Formats: sequence, structure tokens, C-alpha cells
Amino acid sequence: MAKKTIQDISVSGKKVLVRVDFNVPINDEGQVSDDKRIVAALPTIQYLLNQNAKVILCSHLGRPKGKPDPKFSLAPVGARLSELLPDVKIWFAEDTIGESAKSAIADMKDGEIVLLENVRFHKEETDNDPDFAKQLASLADVYVSDAFGTVHRAHASTAGVASYLPAVAGFLIGKELGVMGEALENPKRPFVAILGGAKVSDKIGVIKNLLSKCDSLIIGGGMAYTFFKAQGYEIGQSLLDADSIELAKELLDEAKARNVQLLLPVDTVVAKEFKADAEHKTVPSDRIPADWQGLDIGSESIELFREVILKAKTVIWNGPMGVFEFPAFALGTQGVAKACAECEGTTIIGGGDSASAVKKLGFADRMTHISTGGGASLEFLEGKTLPGVAVLNDK
Ligand code: AMP
Repeated sequence: MAKKTIQDISVSGKKVLVRVDFNVPINDEGQVSDDKRIVAALPTIQYLLNQNAKVILCSHLGRPKGKPDPKFSLAPVGARLSELLPDVKIWFAEDTIGESAKSAIADMKDGEIVLLENVRFHKEETDNDPDFAKQLASLADVYVSDAFGTVHRAHASTAGVASYLPAVAGFLIGKELGVMGEALENPKRPFVAILGGAKVSDKIGVIKNLLSKCDSLIIGGGMAYTFFKAQGYEIGQSLLDADSIELAKELLDEAKARNVQLLLPVDTVVAKEFKADAEHKTVPSDRIPADWQGLDIGSESIELFREVILKAKTVIWNGPMGVFEFPAFALGTQGVAKACAECEGTTIIGGGDSASAVKKLGFADRMTHISTGGGASLEFLEGKTLPGVAVLNDK
């Protein structure tokens, strides 16, 4: 069911509580060192300001363990926000709830912003405490959810608060749900899913859900060796998810039964040890020497995957193809990123490491969508109901 967005309701003159993701890095000088997440929230904030709403911003930053800790204050975020919105009055409330929040909100005018202090200074936030959620809700007339990175968590500010207010999606969440929802529910075909990363067990749900929807499933990264093992290959010292070998067999069978093309790397870059400058060579995937370990997909695999990706009308990618942190073993991840950039279909990068790889390579602008939430996008791809989305009002 489609969810209401800020464009479906009237916000003029109303107090609008927006749950944003301002979980940004703060440097030793107490300044925001990367403002991407703040910038990403601007379209929603700007829209609400243009509608003459009173904008109340709420976020977490870091993991302050449920009590105030100046290291995790949102004050530096307020300073950066003032630079990004020089013409807007921004008040900073020294607490998320209580007198400081209430008095700032009472003093603010339409078209102004109150930034609340870190919501995780209260342990009731992560407990999703109903009383805390109610106090937060009492500050506003409307709730807007725009922190996709946290919608898979049922916290007071991401889920609980919506029990007490009209609740709608902001532009960021609207885009995440729109693009990924369309790809899962009604994909343009061929639909190619690419999964990589370390462990099969972390991605079982995603593999299962995507197997029921996609035409081709590409598996690379550390996950691939468990599938090799399931096919009886020697994998040497490569990463193995021993508890998932049986499951990998079942998934291979399921792909066959569903007529899904399941592609594993045909060649593998193996190294003597897990080190950036380790001696390495490329071998066919069924010839991994006993005392070597696979750290990347080989060039034939890159070519094979590339051909499939270029023909796709929808691509979803989550997880690197190798140990991309080491430049010598980053070529597989780079090759897949390049193929996705060149693909003319819808390309969706599911957060985390693949998103950083794509950005680092300068391909970000060439993707349809890069998800802002690693964990949340994985759960979405698993077909799970995200608590912070479920609470939003239906259209
Ligand atoms: P994940 O968080 O499950 O997406 O896994 C990402 C991590 O998987 C990255 O840190 C990669 O270095 C790691 N990874 C990818 N391929 C391999 C591999 N062949 N061997 C060991 N680790 C890998």
C-alpha cells in the first residue's frame, strides 16, 4: 500500500516534527566533517519551510548509550545547517523533549526551524517507550519520517511517535520506497540482482526474496565460496560459511526450479594471504589451490557479469565482489560498478559498501538510486515490513 507523503497533506502554519538522519561524522574540532546526510534532508526541509510550516528536526547521532554526552551533541549539525540555510532562523533545543524543546517551539515562527538535541540521549528512544513517544508527539501537529537509515528499527522517534500524530513520508523516504518498491513489485525485465559481501547467512532472506522475483542472480564476494563448496569445489583458505553449505545447495536448486539464471564467478583472484600486497594470481573457480584464498572475482567473471548487467532493464546490487578495501582486489567491484553505470536500465545500489564503491569511483550520478540505508535497504529487499514505514498513513 502506498504511503502518504508531505505532498498529500496540508502543513501550512503547522508544527511538523521531522525525523531526519543527521547521524554525521564530527571531527576533533567539533565540526561536521561530511554533511551529505544534512544536504540530503534539505529538499524535505525546504519544502516544509516554503509551505510556511514550523519545522522541528529530530535525529540521533552516534551511540550515546541513552544519556547526554557532549561528544554526540547535534549542536555542530545546527551550525552546519545554518550555513546551508543562511536565511532561515534555526533554534537549538538542548533537549529532545521537556522545557527547552517546548519553549523554543513556543517562540518559533512559521518558516523557522527548531533542531532538537540528540534523541538517543534518552534511553527511552531505542526502547520505543510509549510515554517518551507521546511527549515527543506532543511537540507537533504532524510527523514526517525522512530517515531511511533507521526505518528498520522500531524506536520512539521512528515508529512510536506515529501512534499519536498524522504520519507521512518525506521526499527521501518517498524516493527510497518508490524506486525500490517498483523494482520489487513491478520490475522492468530482465531484472538482474547482484549480491556480494562476506557472509551468506546475512543475506539468506535477500537471496530468497530476490530469487522469487529476478531473472538473473549474480553472486560474488566472499559469499560465492560457500556456493562453490556446495558444488564440491576445493576453496582453499577462502571465506566459508560452513553452516550455510546445505542452504547454498537448496538455493542453487531453487534457482533451477524457478528458471532463474544463477551466475557465480567463473574465475577467482586468489592470494597467498589476506593482505593488501599479498602475492596473487587468477585461477578458474574450480581450481583454487589448497593453501590460497579467493579475494576477488577474476576478469572473465567481470566480463560475464558485465554482459548480463548491460542487457538488464532493472539492476539491484548489494555487496562488494571482493576485498575492495585492498586496491589489488577491488577490480571486480569496480568492474561491476562500471557496468551498472553503463547500464541503461534502472540501477539501484543498496547502500553500504557497494554504495561507497560507486561514489568513490565517481559513478554516483549514473545510477538511478543509491539507497541511504544499508540495513534498511537489505530488510526492504528481503521483503520485510519496515516498522518505520508500516506506521505511516496509507494513501
Ligand atoms: P557485507 O558487509 O556482508 O556486505 O561484506 C562486506 C565485506 O565483505 C567487505 O569488507 C569485503 O572486504 C568483504 N569481502 C568481500 N569479498 C571477500 C572475500 N573474497 N574474502 C573475504 N572478504 C570479502
